[in-house]
Amino acid sequence: MENHKINELITLVSTYLNKSEVDLILKAIDFSQTAHNSQVRQSGEPFVNHPIEVAKILAEIKLDSSSIISGLLHDTIEDTTTTAKKIDKIFGNEIGMLVNGLTKINKYSLKVNNLKLGENYRKLLLASTKDLRVILIKLADRLHNMRTIDAFSSEEKKKRIAKETMEIYAPLADRMGMHRIRDELEDLSFKVLNNDARKLIKKRLDEIKEDKVNSFNSISLEFSVLLNQNNLNAEIVGREKTPFSIWKKVQKKRISLEQISDIIGFRIILKNIEDCYKALGIFHKEWNCIPGRFKDYISSPKINKYQSLHTSVIGPNRRPIEIQIRTMQMHEFAERGIASHWKYKSSEKFDSLTWKEYDWLKDLVEIINRNENPEHFFEYTKLQMFQENVFCFTPKGSVIKLPKNATPIDFAYAVHTKIGDTAIGCEINGKTSELQSILHNGDIIKITTSKNKSPSLHWIPITKTGKARSSIRKYWHAKGEEKAQRVKKYNTTLWISLPDQPGKLGEVTTLLG
Ligand code: MN
Repeated sequence: MENHKINELITLVSTYLNKSEVDLILKAIDFSQTAHNSQVRQSGEPFVNHPIEVAKILAEIKLDSSSIISGLLHDTIEDTTTTAKKIDKIFGNEIGMLVNGLTKINKYSLKVNNLKLGENYRKLLLASTKDLRVILIKLADRLHNMRTIDAFSSEEKKKRIAKETMEIYAPLADRMGMHRIRDELEDLSFKVLNNDARKLIKKRLDEIKEDKVNSFNSISLEFSVLLNQNNLNAEIVGREKTPFSIWKKVQKKRISLEQISDIIGFRIILKNIEDCYKALGIFHKEWNCIPGRFKDYISSPKINKYQSLHTSVIGPNRRPIEIQIRTMQMHEFAERGIASHWKYKSSEKFDSLTWKEYDWLKDLVEIINRNENPEHFFEYTKLQMFQENVFCFTPKGSVIKLPKNATPIDFAYAVHTKIGDTAIGCEINGKTSELQSILHNGDIIKITTSKNKSPSLHWIPITKTGKARSSIRKYWHAKGEEKAQRVKKYNTTLWISLPDQPGKLGEVTTLLG
């Protein structure tokens, strides 16, 4: 038995858990060792190393003792003669429920044809509705499996697991706000799926790091002097970008690798929100900001609750620099996600605390409960759920799911083509609003229609859904040759400058029926 692994875990948990909790963890280590007895992993090492590493990942984000114990026991029902009853009896119902939730999922986890994948994912989400910690433990499990994926000799199997990780677990980690785990899952999968691209980008990043150690430090110093002159105290850290994040940008923006990997990033951590905006003002005053790059995720957080100010400036030596400005609390959340919301010293229950903030998961589970085809469901969530979306409601309470920045026009078309075609105005949350407004999560939208109204061509550039755009085009095509010609021309230009967003909104609406 590898005692140093156990020591590392115990040292880690002792920094934030009390003695009785640590004792229970020791008991679970013992239990897991006995249960997994002589089992070995693919690599030949003792199996029990795996649950211990999983527990360590959970301890690194300072999760509670029940999660850590469940991490230690997560494979016992699945792979050994241990029964759920026995775990209930020794460790109590709470841990029993968590381990049980993880067991059901495991049975499906490596069968990655779409049907099984959908089913697996569905089960994971359903188990998590009882307790969100199920997802966190599953993410830690997957992270350790990805760290050790080289033990498999089958290239095909590795690729299958990496693909599943990239498509399901990394977005899930993102949704839980666990950015560090997400980054590592993505990077490990990227290594399996496209190692050539990864190597290339990594080489470039290493060059920058080596070459620019001085400039990294000198820019840090320049920042800190500037902030000090303005009476701001900040912690400044250089930010290393991951090869995968750069790869994603290269794909999306179709610009060169050099352009993206040459930009260096900094994180500025300040005392409070007021100081964050002050610092932003100072940076923008000192250097030109790059248009279109400023994002205020403090006043409007991401769906996963992430908060920070993002900007890019042409900084010292005319070097493009990305800057993220945040408070310590926001920084903690960005690193640990949902785990940072749980205060281990309070007696508050984990689930009651987190549910309020994770309504999207509840919504998702409600949607999947209405849908019986797991394959269809998987496609749908993969396309829709992990893009930035907004959920809006009809006055009668039906959920309409739309992409970020969608308008009431998109909403009208998502409900029914006829409503879109005849829309003349709308109310958002009871207030008369423009059809061009941007919708937000939870908005209730009432569309006013008029029989003899036609949809406006000016709507096309502001709509965000394929359905709205194609319906407007279709409407005008039906309006005779001359007009149709005009529409066609108009649309061609728009199509190039604003490529239609592929989405299956027609289907989604039916699904939500
Ligand atoms: Mn496992």
